[in-house]
Amino acid sequence: MRKVLLVRFGEVYLKGLNRPYFLKKLTANVRTAVAPIGGHVWLSDSRIYVSGAEDIEECAQRVRKVFGVHSVSYALELEKDFETIAAACVELTKDLSGTFKVLARRSDKSFPMDSMTMAGELGYRVLTANPNLSVDVHKPQHKLNVEIRDYAYVSVGEIPAVGGMPLGTGGRAALLLSGGIDSPVAGYHVMRRGVVVEAIHFQSPPYTSERAKEKVLELAKILGEYGGGMKVHLVPFTNIQMEIHEKCPDAMGTVLMRRYMMRIAEGIARRIHAQALITGESLGQVASQTMEAIGCTDAVVNMPVFRPLIGMDKLEITEQAVKIGSYETSILPYEDCCTVFTPRHPNTKPRPEMVEDAEKALDTEALVRAAIEATEVIRV
Ligand code: ATP
Ligand code: MG
Repeated sequence: MRKVLLVRFGEVYLKGLNRPYFLKKLTANVRTAVAPIGGHVWLSDSRIYVSGAEDIEECAQRVRKVFGVHSVSYALELEKDFETIAAACVELTKDLSGTFKVLARRSDKSFPMDSMTMAGELGYRVLTANPNLSVDVHKPQHKLNVEIRDYAYVSVGEIPAVGGMPLGTGGRAALLLSGGIDSPVAGYHVMRRGVVVEAIHFQSPPYTSERAKEKVLELAKILGEYGGGMKVHLVPFTNIQMEIHEKCPDAMGTVLMRRYMMRIAEGIARRIHAQALITGESLGQVASQTMEAIGCTDAVVNMPVFRPLIGMDKLEITEQAVKIGSYETSILPYEDCCTVFTPRHPNTKPRPEMVEDAEKALDTEALVRAAIEATEVIRV
């Protein structure tokens, strides 16, 4: 007998003919997640198993964060002998009270007892051993899972995992990552759909500090924990901000700055073969996130821009940031480049022709090229 982690996957099931491809990716991603703590991973009969990890609880926490995993359970791996299985069922339920149900599944048809009989018989054993339990087949508080496969696996309860699709099955995108609350959450949502994400951060030294940069790297690291780390492209943005500040009308500052960010991000995205950009914008949240402003920023890019938070309230976004684990870092008080040259009265309804007119004072192509050339890449 040994303790293993039983890993269930959800939506991967739906992928029809591509299923083997998705499962292979998912298994590889689970393997990467538990390799540092010595976990051994295998796929058998539509389940992934992990054994041998030094600390099974940490192992569960790591696997929970692998996109594509629906839930995990601690399971006992046993010989396929009914008495052994029954003893394990009694042992696992001895401290429980309330209602329960046995879910038995026999994948190995050579096992002499069918699922129904097994469920009934095991239920009887558990009831006899523990007077604090009663059976409820419709809404049980506890589910005792028994699966007969290469071995017998017995488990109680499930720990919910992140769900989504295996990372690497959905292409690549570039996330505009600020130090704020929103953009890490936006990145998380797209990663969860199987997309490998690289981060792009605009910094304006000396107006933004080394600690502001550290904070963004930390945020990227937190996101990277959901799969294979993360690359961060650090773009020097001071020069462009100064140019805008000096040569363009003050009220246009915000939308112009955002147009330059998008152009540079697209340039970097094309270099790294990313197919889309991601931002943390939410409609109406600030001056640059009105319909008109978003229209003006979108006008300069020729690839899809994903805004997963577009219809969400700040409160909902904040709750998700807490859940993902990025919130505490996001609220550290270091200045962002956006706050450095913020106009006092930003134009919230910019018109494209006004913006284009204001931009004529700048050598856009040269500014964008120089920023891309000077970008530094760090892997966290
Ligand atoms: P966040 O909480 O993500 O910072 P925000 O509410 O502060 O968002 P803005 O400052 O208008 O909103 O930024 C909108 C989006 O633009 C951000 O979600 C992010 O995707 C991108 N962005 C803003 N500043 C930067 C930056 N310095 N580097 C990279 N991307 C940025
Ligand atoms: Mg911000």
